[in-house]
Parts: sequence; C-alpha cells; structure tokens
Amino acid sequence: MSNLRFQSVETAGSRQLSAIDKVETKKATSIFGKNVFSIAKMKDYLPKNSYKELLASIEEGTVISRDLAEHISQAMKTWALANGASHYTHWFQPLTGSTAEKHDAFFEPDENGNAIEKFTADALVQQEPDASSFPNGGIRNTFEARGYTAWDPSSPAFIFETGAGKTLCIPTVFVSYTGESLDYKAPLLKANLAIDKAATDVAQYFDRAISKVIPSLGIEQEYFLVDLSLYNARPDLQLTGRTLFGHMAAKGQQLEDHYFGSIPERVLAYMVDLENECLKLGIPLKTRHNEVAPSQYECAPMFEEINLAIDHNQLLQNVMDQIALRHHFKVLLHEKPYSGVNGSGKHNNWSLITNTGVNLLSPGKTPKNNLMFLTFFVNTIKAVSEHADLLRASIASASNDHRLGANEAPPAIISIFLGSQLNDVLEEVESARVAKKVKSEANLWHGIPKIPELRLDTTDRNRTSPFAFTGNKFEFRAVGSSANSALPMTVLNTIVANQLIEFKTEVDKQIKKGTKKDLAILNVVRKYIKESKAIRFEGNGYSEEWEIEAAERGLSNIKSTPKALDIYIKEESIALFEKLGIYTKRESEARHEILLENFFKKLQIEARVIGEIVNSLIAPACFTYQNQLITNVKGLKDLGLNKESYSSQLNIVERISSHANTILQEAEAMRQARKKANSIDDIREKAIAYDEEVKPYFDKIRYHVNKLEQIVDDQKWPLPKLRELLFIS
Ligand code: ADP
Ligand code: MG
Repeated sequence: MSNLRFQSVETAGSRQLSAIDKVETKKATSIFGKNVFSIAKMKDYLPKNSYKELLASIEEGTVISRDLAEHISQAMKTWALANGASHYTHWFQPLTGSTAEKHDAFFEPDENGNAIEKFTADALVQQEPDASSFPNGGIRNTFEARGYTAWDPSSPAFIFETGAGKTLCIPTVFVSYTGESLDYKAPLLKANLAIDKAATDVAQYFDRAISKVIPSLGIEQEYFLVDLSLYNARPDLQLTGRTLFGHMAAKGQQLEDHYFGSIPERVLAYMVDLENECLKLGIPLKTRHNEVAPSQYECAPMFEEINLAIDHNQLLQNVMDQIALRHHFKVLLHEKPYSGVNGSGKHNNWSLITNTGVNLLSPGKTPKNNLMFLTFFVNTIKAVSEHADLLRASIASASNDHRLGANEAPPAIISIFLGSQLNDVLEEVESARVAKKVKSEANLWHGIPKIPELRLDTTDRNRTSPFAFTGNKFEFRAVGSSANSALPMTVLNTIVANQLIEFKTEVDKQIKKGTKKDLAILNVVRKYIKESKAIRFEGNGYSEEWEIEAAERGLSNIKSTPKALDIYIKEESIALFEKLGIYTKRESEARHEILLENFFKKLQIEARVIGEIVNSLIAPACFTYQNQLITNVKGLKDLGLNKESYSSQLNIVERISSHANTILQEAEAMRQARKKANSIDDIREKAIAYDEEVKPYFDKIRYHVNKLEQIVDDQKWPLPKLRELLFIS
C-alpha cells in the first residue's frame, strides 16, 4: 500500500466536478429567508391580536407574556411541521466557542398508543439541557449544576436542514440556576441594552425623535479550504485545526496572484452552494472573493442588527462546514492554519444606528449633524483609548496568538486608524479657537470644520491597523477567524456605553453652569480628542518602529493570551462591567478562568499531537530512508570506492541523524515540560507555563521536521506537504 499521503493526493487531484458541484445560483429573492420564522411569517400564523402584541413587545423590548408565548409556540410548530421539521432544539452559544443544540422530537405518544405532535410554550421559552459538561468557570457547583436555555425572541427561529432531516432551531441564552450567564449571548444582549440607553441619551441632545440606538455589525469571514482527503491525512489539521509542521512551498503568496484572482471552479461551486443555503437561512451573504494566501477566501454578509449578525455568523460557520463536506472540502477557520502565509481574521464592522434610520458614525451634511457625528466618533475613539487592554483581551485566544503580532496580521498593540481626512478634521477641531461666549449660531459653528463628504472608495485603507475607521463604521480587524464575535462586541459596546455616560455627565455639568449645549458638547469633544491622541496611528502597524513608538506612547503590547486576560479581573474592569450590568464579579472571574482553561487545553492538545506525530510518523520515515542510504553507502564501500565518492550520502545520513535525534529529544523534553505544567494548580500559572515552557518547543521541533522534510525521500514522507494542501483545488 502506498502511504496515506499519496492516496489522498491522488484522490484530491482526480476530483471531478460532480453533480453537486454544478450548483446553480438561485435567485436570492426567491429563496431568501425561506427557512426562517420571520416576523412577516408570524403575521400569517398568529391571531391578529397576538401579532400586534408581539410587535409592541419587540418595539419596546418588553417581556413576552405567557399567553403570547403559547400562541407563538403553536404558530411556530405549525410552520415548522408544514416545512418538514421533525425535531426542535434550543440553539445556544456556550463558552466552548461553537454552538450547541439538543434535539427533541415534536411527537409525543398519547394514551391510546398513537403519537401526537406537541410543542408548548414551556418548550419554547425554557429548556434544561444536560449541561454539566459545558465550561462554567466554577459557577455551577454540583448542587446547583443546572443550566437553562431561555428563548431570545429578538433572533428569529429557523429550520436547519441536513441530509438527516430538518430541525427547528430556537436561539436562546444559556444561564445557570442562579441566573449567571454561561454563554456569549446573554452578556451581549446586556451590553446592547447598555449602549442603547447611553447612546440614546446622548443622541437626544441632537434629535428628540431618537428613542433607540442599535449597534449594527457586518462580519467579514476569512477561511481556508483544503481537500477533504488531504485533510484526513494530516492528524495535526484534524486535531488542532492547523498544520504543526510543513516546509512552506517554494511558491507561497509572494506573487500575490491569488488575491482577487479568479476563483477556481470547484471552489466557486462551493461558494454558490453556501450562498444558496445561507440565503434560505436569512443570512444575507453578499460578497465572496479570494484572499491573500493560496486557498484562502472570504465571504461577508450585508450588515445587520448586532445580535442577529452574530447569530448569523455562528450559524454561517456551521453551514460552511456542512456544505464543504458535500464538495469534499474541509473549511479551516483557524487563525493560522499554515505558518508562512497569511492568517485569517473576522473583521467586525460596527456602527450605531438610530430608530430614525440615522447612522451615528456617518459624517453629516450640515454642521449640526457633523457635531452629532463628531460626538459619537470621538467618544468611540476615547473609549478605545481608555480601554485598549480590554479590547485586546476580548480577542485573545491560543489560536489568535499566532496571528496577532505575527508579520502580516494586526499587531497586538491596539491603535486606531482614521485616514488623513478625518485626522485633519480632528486636528482642526482641536486647534480651532472657539468663542467663549456664543453670540450667534454662526459664531459657534466656527469651531466645527465642514467635514468633507467622504466617498467610501476614497477613504484610505490601512490593512495593518487593528481598529480602523472606514467611512461610516469602525472595523475591528484583530478579531480571530474562529472567534465568536459576541465577546469583542460585548466589550466594545460596554466601553463605548460607559464613555457616552461619562460624556453626558460632563456635558450636563457644563450646561448646568450656563454653557450653551452645543458649546458644552464641543468643549468635551475637544477635550477627548486631546486625551486620546496616543491611540491614533496612521503608519504601518506591522513595522518594528511602531512597536518602539507605541511603547514610547505608553500603549500596551501584550503578546500572549494568559497575560492579556489579566485585565478581566482587575478591579476597574470588574467595576465597569458591574456598573453597566454586563457581568457580575463572579461572572468576570468565571470567564477569566474559562478563557485560561481553553488556552492551556489548546496548547496541551497541540503538544500531544506533535509528540505523537514526531514519534510515530516522522522519525520512522526518516529512519527508513536513512537505512536505505546506509545500505547504499555500505555497498559503495564494498565495491572499494573511495570515501569521497559517497560523501554526500554520508552527509545526508548525518544530517538525518542529527535532525531526527533532535526532534526525538525535544519531543521528550517537551513532554517533561508538559508534565511539570500539568502539576501546577493555579490556572493562570499553568497557562503561563504552557505558553512559556511548553509552546517554545513547537517551533524548535517544527524547524527540524521541516529540515527533514527537505532531505528525506519524497516517496517516504508521510504527511501531505504544504504545496499539496495549498495548491490542489
Ligand atoms: P471592505 O471594504 O472592508 O471589504 P465592505 O464595504 O465590503 O468593506 O463592507 C464590509 C462589511 O461592512 C459588510 O458586511 C458591510 O455590510 C458592513 N458594513 C457596511 N456599512 C456598515 C455599517 N454602517 N455598520 C456595520 N457594518 C457595515
Ligand atoms: Mg474589511
């Protein structure tokens, strides 16, 4: 039998465009939302009064009554059964990072031995999944080991379809018996409320008609595709999501020919299939293109209300996975599946939109609108500058550590890019001389420069910034491709809400002292511009000079997750989250613990996989080849040839010996380091030990394995090479 590698290369290379690959692009309007129980559909399935009650409760954010829940559950059941669903599930986002579900059948046996279809308000509103195995950071000790999922009416139920059938999925939050959040969604909803309140209060300075502000979010999702059979021949990809070894192909991304190049047919078929499925689920996928690295791609939906956008991104990841299998691909959502080419991110495009339809981060046409824009724009900048470390922590994970601060990804230093136009505007506002007393309207507006209308295509681009203003939204680019955006968005909403509250307090104080409202606003805006200068950076975020300059500016540059996470349990952070009702102290501490645990467990798995592959795959292949060379050398010697004539072979034998010996020794040393780390009780210390004592072996071992890959007979090399993984499509 030829080795698994060659079988998989052959399979991958001979894939035909199968029937399923010849996917038709469906007309979006004919399928959009087909599998979603939207408000519009509820209208058809609900009694008139209930429908009205529902609209009112959505509008006002009030609790849905028991009666209404009963009506909705019946309507939902009727719709789901009519559309072929056999089961229902509460769909939630536990802190494992993926989504979870527990399916229940709609049918129930009745006393006559027949089955009836049943779904009650109880089943809709609340469930108790057996949740003891989800991470909880010590929140659920055994006597209260219960977790509940509770319906989130602000995100519509949908039908998820697989080859095995259809399931009605009901988006829910996941909380403990004592009411503490055990998921990503509950805190996000709280942070949305906080920013709604804070932003509405400030927006009312400008327009009394504004009674609600909702963050909007558009998530760009980067990913890699790899042929399924090749993936299956790489235990490291299978178990850790990334390649732990592999010499970078002679042709990487240096030609930059992949970016926006034409999409290979097989990949295109996948994308079309994915889009069709997403549209049915109400995910408004709009763009698709190649990314910078070979076999790297991106898709992005049209932006939506933040809670829905995040649910949709979580769902998208599931659908991507599911559809990929149909096309014999595996989707890699890891931030850095291949060292040596670009990693993947998840750009979070965020802004604030009012009930009156105004984007508060869109520069206005009139001076008054500009003051409103400046207010929200500058408050966001100030919030990020005050809480850069919290934002940094919100994107920290073992996998994103490979990306942040690595050559081609946003650095671990949080800074904001504004583009030259808006920088000029801020400088002008800061330095303008504003009249102390406002004699007339015209006089006041002297301090506010006319902001040139920004054309989106002319806003400058800076791909190296972790947090950039892009025309009418901020783009948080440092979020990792596999992350749940709820965490960074919870933090962003919280810090901006907090900033807006402080802003309002300061402005009101000035107004009380007799300063005119607009002038008071302008005064505080100017103060914030001054105070938040250090966070603004327009240059190359990847450069070494920036690291030096950032340090001089006093900006943090926290490169590793366990240390980045410290900020969550600092007194100020705990107080901030408590004040705004996002996390209790116990919740902050629990999350800190869970994130640390996730971190070290990821490294623990990687270390084990490295050890196993080195010992059971790489070393044996090296020795087989080495033996062949030894036989060859012996033969030449027997023939009486002089040493000079087989010195190259001997040299290879020696090099193999040296590298193979090193990887075996290092793997053993790594095992010892792991053992030591495992014996540490304190979870933070343990995570740091994994980071500083275990992880450094990864690169050392990789280096020698990659050397071996270049000298060992290609026929004997057991793992698909990066050129095979990256260039076969
Ligand atoms: P890029 O130029 O970075 O590729 P696009 O203009 O294609 O950006 O948009 C990227 C994402 O930003 C899309 O999901 C888009 O819907 C979203 N987006 C656009 N405007 C807003 C906004 N006001 N709020 C939030 N997201 C937005
Ligand atoms: Mg972008």
